[in-house]
Amino acid sequence: MKVIVLGAGVIGVTTAYFLARAGHEVVVLEKNSASALGCSYANGGQLSYSHIEPWASKSSLISIFKAYFTSPSFFSLTDLTNREFWKWAHQFIKNSTKEKNAEISEKIFILAKYSKEVIAEILEQETRLEFDYQQNGTLHFFRNQKLFDSAIKHAQFASSLGVAVKILNPQECVKKEPTLSKLDDENKLVGGIFYETDASGNSMLFTKGLEKICREKYGVVFEYGAEIRNIFTNYQKITGIHTSKGVFTADKYVCALGATGNKLLKGIGINTQIYPIKGYSISVEANSEYLAPKIALTDVENKIVYSRLGDIFRAAGTVEICGNKSEKNQKHIDFIVQKMRTSLSDFGNINEFSDWCGFRPFRPNSIPLICQIKKYPNLIINAGHGSLGWTLSAASAKIAADLIDNQKSSRCQFLEDEEASLYQ
Ligand SMILES: Cc1cc2nc3c(=O)[nH]c(=O)nc-3n(C[C@H](O)[C@H](O)[C@H](O)COP(=O)(O)OP(=O)(O)OC[C@H]3O[C@@H](n4cnc5c(N)ncnc54)[C@H](O)[C@@H]3O)c2cc1C
Repeated sequence: MKVIVLGAGVIGVTTAYFLARAGHEVVVLEKNSASALGCSYANGGQLSYSHIEPWASKSSLISIFKAYFTSPSFFSLTDLTNREFWKWAHQFIKNSTKEKNAEISEKIFILAKYSKEVIAEILEQETRLEFDYQQNGTLHFFRNQKLFDSAIKHAQFASSLGVAVKILNPQECVKKEPTLSKLDDENKLVGGIFYETDASGNSMLFTKGLEKICREKYGVVFEYGAEIRNIFTNYQKITGIHTSKGVFTADKYVCALGATGNKLLKGIGINTQIYPIKGYSISVEANSEYLAPKIALTDVENKIVYSRLGDIFRAAGTVEICGNKSEKNQKHIDFIVQKMRTSLSDFGNINEFSDWCGFRPFRPNSIPLICQIKKYPNLIINAGHGSLGWTLSAASAKIAADLIDNQKSSRCQFLEDEEASLYQ
């Protein structure tokens, strides 16, 4: 069967990989000149299989509210006149109750656990795929006792689902990651939570490596510079994709357009409710001479994640609600640099860094859309992974590729429920 995948981010390329492995003829359409130039380019790098708490929660709402009135902070909001954003925010708030939070955490846990298994399977199959993969856990550290106590409660809930969790005192945190000694020496570290089954890796290298495998081993065709302008239908199925390079047709289609696909899909009566939430990262050179942190860290209070990706030390985070505006906001970059300087012991030349921003494809309930569309049965959507797209990419791709062959995932059945929300 011929399948067209729309978008060559980590989700699109991984989906193309599983489709090609299943024997399909696959074409990937991408507006950029290469894969992984969207949100998958320089994200935080964490494969946080244990970080199952969705952003929609009472404590997030409180910290967003406080951050809005504080400067500098991890949050800024300028898209105030956009009705789409307010509708999204209304849904986000509705998903922030304790009950909803627990229900969503459980679903994300199932998907994350599956993703960890699928990535292991990919690595077994593709032994030459290199992406600075490290399986040495993530350490969430805390300066604020109240926040630490509430995180411990959530960690205990996660533990009841099967997540491996270790609560650490400040000395144990420093033993795990010596660069935290700066915070400890200043008596600012209250403790940490260590998630030993988490990992990290460079999602851009993974995507590009898998793209090469797709092309060379499985004959997948990548059409770059193909900006998708319209999706054609006959009201019963998708009949073609109109791009800047002409019209492409196939038997089935997978839409993996990340944060920007909603507009196109709205044209055919589907509202994915995906809103682009901008985030930033900085990358500092940190070869083996430098004592940059070796394990992945999360500064929960400031919502910044840190990862060592080969010779790069990456810090990523912040939330900018600005619609699709791509210009960089220096305040967000300065915030990350300042928090990195004040949280970790000195290492390398942190005055020299490259910065980046990208749009997280966020749904109000943090559950990605991985489903077959009832209105157009030859269309599968695989998008809306928010802050966990790298972590959830492997399972999402496997599930989407299986849907092309009409195989439904028995363990992630809950994903089908999301389809109903598309026509609201
Ligand atoms: C600051 C930051 C830190 C993050 N940290 C982490 C982390 O530590 N761990 C984690 O799991 N996740 C993290 N994420 C989230 C993760 O990066 C995303 O969820 C993931 O990259 C989304 O992948 P995607 O393939 O859906 O989107 P993308 O990578 O954006 O891919 C979509 C593709 O579709 C293409 N496209 C869009 N519209 C068109 C069109 N009209 N025509 C043709 N092509 C089109 C785009 O060019 C792009 O290549 C982070 C995100 C940010 C911003």
